Amino acid sequence: MRIRLIAVILLAFAFSGAPALAAEKQKKLPKPGWNMFSKDQDIQMGREYAQQVEKQFKVVDNRDLTEYINRIGQRLVKQGGLEQYQYPFFFKVVHEDSINAFALPGGPMFVHTGLIKAADNEGQIAGVLAHELSHVVLRHGTNQASKAQIAQLGAVLGGAMLGGGSLTGQLAQLGIGLGANSVLHKFSRGAESDADLLGAYTMAKAGYNPIEMARFFEKLQAEAGKSNKLVEFFTSTHPNPGNRVQAIEGQLPYMPRSDYNAAEGNLKSMQAAVTKLGPAPKPKQVAQGQGQGQGQGQGSQPPSNTPKPANVPVSSNLKVYQSSALSISYPDNWQASANQNSLTIAPAEGLLQGAIGYGVIVASAQSPNGRVNLQQDTQKLLQTIAQENAGAQLVQQPQSINISGSAAMVSQLKSTSPYANTAEIDTIITIDRGANLVYLICIAPEPDYSRFEPLYQQMVRSIRFK
Ligand SMILES: [Zn+2]
Repeated sequence: MRIRLIAVILLAFAFSGAPALAAEKQKKLPKPGWNMFSKDQDIQMGREYAQQVEKQFKVVDNRDLTEYINRIGQRLVKQGGLEQYQYPFFFKVVHEDSINAFALPGGPMFVHTGLIKAADNEGQIAGVLAHELSHVVLRHGTNQASKAQIAQLGAVLGGAMLGGGSLTGQLAQLGIGLGANSVLHKFSRGAESDADLLGAYTMAKAGYNPIEMARFFEKLQAEAGKSNKLVEFFTSTHPNPGNRVQAIEGQLPYMPRSDYNAAEGNLKSMQAAVTKLGPAPKPKQVAQGQGQGQGQGQGSQPPSNTPKPANVPVSSNLKVYQSSALSISYPDNWQASANQNSLTIAPAEGLLQGAIGYGVIVASAQSPNGRVNLQQDTQKLLQTIAQENAGAQLVQQPQSINISGSAAMVSQLKSTSPYANTAEIDTIITIDRGANLVYLICIAPEPDYSRFEPLYQQMVRSIRFK
């Protein structure tokens, strides 16, 4: 059973991108949001990804260029007030024509030679760096990964996944990488506004005019409108929150007074040095296909060659999972990992690449109509699951049942197991909880299903709502 994003499909999203207002009050400086990763895991991940990036791109071996970018970066960190966040920031120049700079979680930053070439002044380079540094200290990448409804994330971060290996290797198995569509790098408009705001303060403190950041972003946006391929990656991963220049201008009166005295350096000679490097090499493909800019999608699932485990242990001792919404019993040798909208209960052997082979998913979705229509919403959910799991067939039509005093339906699908050459049975229970549809998906390979069915029935019967 593919599980990614199922939980969010029925959710009506509140749009959080706040438009810039004309009458400007002082905006509060943003803080890091909710995160399942620890700060150390951000740093570890950044370190591992940085190694991949350095294999894929040519790091420029030119002292003048390296010193130039480091001088700007360190000025932003030290004078701009980012030292307090205590990340091991470093700055490298990579030989790449596209107009971009990207920072990895935990601090490593790579500046494309294309950015140096495209800037009108040093302040514009500082603007992109300050914006990227703000994404790092606000932890936007891992914040978004935390919110991405990936049920096994808790198990990976808690070190519970089998096989060990690098953190990024395990995240790659869940489809979290560095590509354009990755949750780590596709920022929301809210995150963009926050990075603009903190980036602008950082610039002002460091002696750069914050307006240059907004001007440069608007210039990139205009180039994107002309289908300039060189700006595509940046503009697709940093969506325009709208009115960047106005939003920053409106906040200027509140920023530390500065005469914007950062030395105007020698951008022209740096641009000449870039030209001298000659044409940029083609980025190399790296293992795992997790490279920057490859548009690593979330939709494709590699054909599985993982054999079905011979034995999945099921303890007859049950323990109780409690949340603010419900409680449910499960075998005490299985793991329960929860995020905002879903709970996955599975044996370690049942968790694999972006999917679950054995286990139970409990999730909740707001009905788009504000009130659950059990039959309609059940059909919709079944369709959604069938879309996510190509070839899924309904083998049991929805039948009415009752769960813990609430109207419910039970249906069954047959689909392709994530284990090699194996079919799977998925029993789906949908429960009418007023405004929310609570649903359970009970998963096991078809040959084993009869062995797991009594356990799943016991788990479903044990549910209590609060
Ligand atoms: Zn951004």
